[in-house]
Amino acid sequence: MPDQIYMSAPDVGELEEAFLLDALRSGWIAPLGPDVDAFESEIAARVGTEHAVALSSGTAALHLGLLGLGVKPGDIVITASMTFAATANAIVYAGAEPFFIDSDAETGNISPALLAEALVQLAREGRRAAALVPVDLLGKAADYTALLPLADGVPVLSDAAEAFGAYHQGQPAGSFGDASVLSFNGNKIMTTSGGGMLLTDDAELARRARYLATQARQPAVHYEHVDIGYNYRMSNLLAALGRAQLRRLDDMIARRRALRARYRELFATVPGVEIFGGRNDEADNCWLTSITVDESVAGWSAAELGEHLRGLAIESRPLWKPMHLQPVFAEARSLVDGTAEHLFRTGITLPSGSALGLEQIDRTIDAISGFLGARA
Ligand SMILES: *Cc1c(COP(=O)(O)O)cnc(C)c1O
Repeated sequence: MPDQIYMSAPDVGELEEAFLLDALRSGWIAPLGPDVDAFESEIAARVGTEHAVALSSGTAALHLGLLGLGVKPGDIVITASMTFAATANAIVYAGAEPFFIDSDAETGNISPALLAEALVQLAREGRRAAALVPVDLLGKAADYTALLPLADGVPVLSDAAEAFGAYHQGQPAGSFGDASVLSFNGNKIMTTSGGGMLLTDDAELARRARYLATQARQPAVHYEHVDIGYNYRMSNLLAALGRAQLRRLDDMIARRRALRARYRELFATVPGVEIFGGRNDEADNCWLTSITVDESVAGWSAAELGEHLRGLAIESRPLWKPMHLQPVFAEARSLVDGTAEHLFRTGITLPSGSALGLEQIDRTIDAISGFLGARA
């Protein structure tokens, strides 16, 4: 059996080793330290926000972001149905109820038209969403030009966990709305093995997030507590890893973009297949490349391609299963028109990682070409 090819494996090497070892030898092992401060400033500078708070995960950043925007038990928080479960889980951690909105057909991101309709529905009931959480799906920023005017005073927390390094209309993902979230989980565009960041221009929101993330300790030697806190801060060692990754971010994005270009070439003449997410690869970070397959035109399905690749030790995966179809959210409110469900049933994500070597890329392309040849 050949070596397994993964969709998006961590891409680390000598630079990461050097940064991590330096941090270890500096003695800053205890959670916080100078690499955390430096990592926060570097990320804030890159995205262009005033503040960045390094946390233990993107999910923790979502949770504290929602609390910071004032989301309380019983509130309604609007988000995209087509997302990773962490977005919806964080809403539930805050005690609020998610309201899932269907996708724009081309990008899979939250549909501005359906969002507008949802806000009207709520207004008719005399209710108002406590927050809006758009998601930048697979490294493509949501359409903030359309979304932000619709929010009309509803605080916006942008889930840019998948989109670090991407742009919308020339503005960096992670800089939209009142606050945003990045993830540095192992499979993301860059990693701290596990970690996340809360970004905002709001000094009070950042201060409050830092406080809640360190067990809500009041400044007294005996640790006075007037709030329930969390242990959500990023460790200094992991921040050092992140600083090395940040130096390589543009190179890693370029590699993923080049891989996307190869897939475009491969599928250009294949009827019924589209590269998912539209054609704006220069603005996207190209975190994951997915295709959608119209079986009635192609004569084969995304699932059949996935099965073929699995047999050759090449990982692939359907798009995110929409949250309104997940058993755990069966009772949640949603406004859907079938788009996300259709994308889930016809989409497949292909190996997209920046750590893939030339030989692994060729093996993947050959495997797909072989499948297409047999089906033609
Ligand atoms: C990965 C991801 C998260 C969660 O980030 P973690 O760092 O894994 O907690 C949240 N939202 C989306 C859309 C993600 O893809």
